[in-house]
Order: sequence, then structure tokens, then C-alpha cells
Amino acid sequence: MPALSLASTAGFAQTVVAWQRVYGRHDLPWQGTRDPYRIWLSEIMLQQTQVATVIAYYTRFLERFPDVQALAAATQDEVMPYWAGLGYYARARNLHRCAQIVCEQWQGRFPTNPEDLQQLPGIGRSTAAAIAAFSTGMRTPILDGNVKRVFARYFSFREHPGLRLVEQRMWALAEDIVAQGPADLDMVAYTQGMMDLGASLCSRGKPQCDACPLAQGCQARADGTQHLIPAPKPRKAIPERECHVLILENAQAVLLQRRPSSGIWGGLWTLPQFDTEAELQQACRHYGLACAKDRRMASMVHVFTHFKLTITPWHLTNASVVTEPAADQQWAALSRLPSVALPAPIKKLLEGLYPTHGTQLL
Ligand code: SF4
Repeated sequence: MPALSLASTAGFAQTVVAWQRVYGRHDLPWQGTRDPYRIWLSEIMLQQTQVATVIAYYTRFLERFPDVQALAAATQDEVMPYWAGLGYYARARNLHRCAQIVCEQWQGRFPTNPEDLQQLPGIGRSTAAAIAAFSTGMRTPILDGNVKRVFARYFSFREHPGLRLVEQRMWALAEDIVAQGPADLDMVAYTQGMMDLGASLCSRGKPQCDACPLAQGCQARADGTQHLIPAPKPRKAIPERECHVLILENAQAVLLQRRPSSGIWGGLWTLPQFDTEAELQQACRHYGLACAKDRRMASMVHVFTHFKLTITPWHLTNASVVTEPAADQQWAALSRLPSVALPAPIKKLLEGLYPTHGTQLL
């Protein structure tokens, strides 16, 4: 691990600011505002998702929930369709809960102090710093995935940046960099500049060092090790799981079941799901339905962060015998599917089966 060096951090912040002003992004829909609600929303959406994908979601979300009060007043069911497809649904649940806490405990005014922000659900240290920097210009550095990659290369960290000790050292460097910036350091430009640099020139696959404003001081460039850094996460085999889902269709409607609020696809509507074929067959018998082998469709694989899920759908039509759905179930008209928050693979499956109805988000 590199030693902390004051020389290597001096001038860093000004260089990034100067570069960002000329080459950085200036027209993203969440730029040019100091409204912490809008900044917070963009930061949460961007946590695991690329800018190009987030833009449409962000705009739609704000049209429906223009302020924290509107979001807090909505039900989770009303919020989820505006998140469906972005993945990592715990973010949406935390977002909703966070809005309610801001209304209950902060009189509807978003805090802008990083310590206060970090007490709210779904807001970690780097997100809190970004909200504070963008909404107030506070001298508080971020350390998101992009910044870690830039730091790992610039300071030549050979270990995986997710390791606790490496992360601690990076936070110390991040603090050092902004502490050494000029008294009037433009924290908005610096914060955005680090995000932009990591997303563009210092990208994972093809760092464009010749165009990089940090090239002169970059250790990885000097060593020719840009492509080896950051070191990948030590690999563990991804566990594989399987499930069977039941497409019960009747009179232009399908039976949907809501997932428990925690766990994968928490709070979303999906198809009735079973761990084994035997459990699925048992449910069919319970409904008085015959589920022959020819009702089985081709399996599909969905990869989550921690495991791989093989989903086998079974399709039964004329399922009118299910007259009384359970409390967590509903018959959803095919025409209504576009407004239901469905997990991405289930959405794709139903789009394939019912193409004329579509299942696009809103
Ligand atoms: S010089 Fe290359 S490796 Fe170093 S920070 Fe810039 S783009 Fe990244």
C-alpha cells in the first residue's frame, strides 16, 4: 500500500476542478440545483446504475414525486413502479422510508450535514458527502466506486479497494486532497469532476491516460500498471439456486403475488414462486389444477450480485378455479401490467407471452 504523501495530493483538487469546468458534464438533469431532495434522489439512483439509465427514471420519478412531502405521502406500492427495472430494490424501500423520516423528524426539510444525512436509511458516508457538497458546497469528499478506481491507480494501491484497510487509507487521502485545496475550492466542480473522471477517462476497461489531467502524478501510469489496477475482488464461486414460477392466466388476467418486503425483489409484485417443482405441483393440486409436463416453459437464468437464479416458468390458462386470491395476491388484468412494479426477468417473461399488452414501466 502506498504511503500517505502530502506531495502527491497537493494540487490534485485544483487540477480536477479545472478539468471538470472544461471537459466535465454540465447538463445532467440533477445538476444546477441546490435542492437536497433532488440531489439525494440522483445519488441514490446512481449508486448502482449508470447515468444513461438513470436519466429517464429520475425525470419520471420527479414528475410523480416532485418533493419529499409527495414521496412521503405515497404508499410503497405507488413508489415501486417508478423504480422497477433499476434493480437493487432495497434502495427504493430505503428511499421511501427516508422521505417519511425527513417529514416526521426534520419538518420536511432535508438535512445537509453529512453526520445527520448518514443517520438516514440508505445514505452512506460517500452519498452523504456528495449531497452536502452539491447542496451547500461543504468541504466534504466523496469516495464512491469511480473515485476508488482513480485513487487506486493514481496512488498505486495494489490491493482490492473494497478491503477495509485500503478504504480507510483512501478516505484519509480524500480528506487530505480537499484539505489542501485552495480556500475557495469549488466543491461542486471537484465532486462532479471526480465522478466524471472515473466514468470517462479513468474507466475500468480503457483508461485514456494521454487525455487525463492527473497523468503527470499518476503512479499506475508511470509504472504501466493501469490495466492491473484496481485489483479484482477476491473471487468466491457464485452459488446457484433455482425456482419455479406459475403463470396462472384467466380471462385476460394473470395471478400476481407480492414478495415479502425484505429479500430479493422485496415489495415487488411477481408470479407465484416455488423453490421446487414438487412445491409448485402441490400448489396446483391445492387449486384443483392439473399441471402437466408440457406446461413447462424454457428456463431462464438471472444473475444477482450474490447468486445465480434459474427460473422455470409453468403456464396454465383457464385458471378460473382460483377465485379467491390470498391476501398477498391479485388478479392483474393484462392491460394493467404496465403499471405494476415487476422484477426485470418476470417483466421480460410476460412481455414475451403477452406482447400486445407490453409491460413497460408506465
Ligand atoms: S493517468 Fe490514466 S490511470 Fe492515471 S488517473 Fe488518469 S486515466 Fe487513470
